[in-house]
Amino acid sequence: MKILVQKFGGTSVADPDRIKRAAKKIAKAYRQGFRVAVVVSALGKTTDDLVDLSKQITSTPSRREMDMLLSTGEQISTALMAMALHVLGIEAISLTGFQVGIQTDTSHTRARILGIERSRVLSCLKKGFVTIVAGFQGVTPDKEITTLGRGGSDLTAVALAHSLNAKACEIYTDVEGIFTTDPRVYSGARKIDRISYEEMLELASAGAQVMQARSIELAGKFNVPIHVRSSIVDRPGTWIVKGDKSMEQILVRGVALNKQEAKVTVVNVPDRPGVAGKMFRSLAKAGVNVDMIIQNVSLSSKATDISFTVPASDLPDAVKAIRSMKPKISSKSIIEDKNIAKISVAGIGMRSHSGIAADMFEVLGKNKINIQMISTSEIKISCVVKKKDAERAVRVLHKHFIDASDKYAVVKRRS
Ligand code: ADP
Ligand code: ASP
Ligand code: MG
Repeated sequence: MKILVQKFGGTSVADPDRIKRAAKKIAKAYRQGFRVAVVVSALGKTTDDLVDLSKQITSTPSRREMDMLLSTGEQISTALMAMALHVLGIEAISLTGFQVGIQTDTSHTRARILGIERSRVLSCLKKGFVTIVAGFQGVTPDKEITTLGRGGSDLTAVALAHSLNAKACEIYTDVEGIFTTDPRVYSGARKIDRISYEEMLELASAGAQVMQARSIELAGKFNVPIHVRSSIVDRPGTWIVKGDKSMEQILVRGVALNKQEAKVTVVNVPDRPGVAGKMFRSLAKAGVNVDMIIQNVSLSSKATDISFTVPASDLPDAVKAIRSMKPKISSKSIIEDKNIAKISVAGIGMRSHSGIAADMFEVLGKNKINIQMISTSEIKISCVVKKKDAERAVRVLHKHFIDASDKYAVVKRRS
């Protein structure tokens, strides 16, 4: 059986016309002889709307009930997609994550997939049904409904493609593929033909929302080929594949922007062993995902300041966790800052070349953009800047590293 997984994101199924258009794409693959498993996201901004609805009831909803609420979005689109295929004369069946057996752990709203039962989907595919699976949701061993974190339909698609040993995992979205930066932020962004899992993972974790980071982690682990492409035009998009030597010629593959982080600074923390451990343990216990950390060494006093960034949605939990620490940290010592953004440049070529960090800081400096925090990995450099400067930072970095890349790459390669 030649199996293909096709995933349609929210904008690609935003209204009945788009659902019909997506159904035609599915029908085309089906008529070419593929057995097609389809993963759909909720219609348009449904998930955001459901989150807003919950906020009108409470600012602290239980995570279990959030999952009960958010998982309804994807169920609507599966049924509508099945109907659209029926109209085209194609047999199709919709299934929830529960019906498929997408097993997850119990971390509500950010569950991890533990395994997928292949039998139900395989038997539907064998019978010739296009099988439409609700993205973003799963079920715990206790039959509780879970969701996989925002953008989680990408993860459903990759996990399904792996478990069905599909030929490819096609991700249909509202852009023509992966670009060197978000085309909505910089119109000079270029489409990339092939990108390595490693680079895509760095860009996705750094905020390039086009693919959910965890889906890339899984795809890289099991070598699932992903083709990100437009649900509107019929052109090849971007293949996300295993990296090779030729990819290392490019020093900076892309620039990413994350405006969804917030910074917490805890001032006057006693400067003695064990304090940072306590602080980050209490954040971990609260399930807060800490990203960047800076501790300023104080030369004159016996106190120090610690700053860290967290997803903006985790900010209340982070502050609560710090407040509950013993010995007590006074509220006055905790400074919250939502007016920050993180910009990152990534590329596997960085591994074998030096000077990219210096270039990045110089470009930002020349453009009077102040850097508040820095972190690096082997193939990525990230800086926290003021939110109001962030989009301009993306543009100037893109111009320097990518628009002028021919000149830049050659000069750097020779040095
Ligand atoms: P979907 O609803 O199909 O899952 P998303 O909104 O999650 O789509 O992701 C697509 C969006 O990701 C694009 O509209 C684009 O603005 C944004 N994006 C951010 N970075 C990139 C990038 N490097 N390449 C392409 N798109 C990007
Ligand atoms: N509907 C979910 C979200 O908006 C999952 C997804 O679209 O991938 O995050
Ligand atoms: Mg998405």
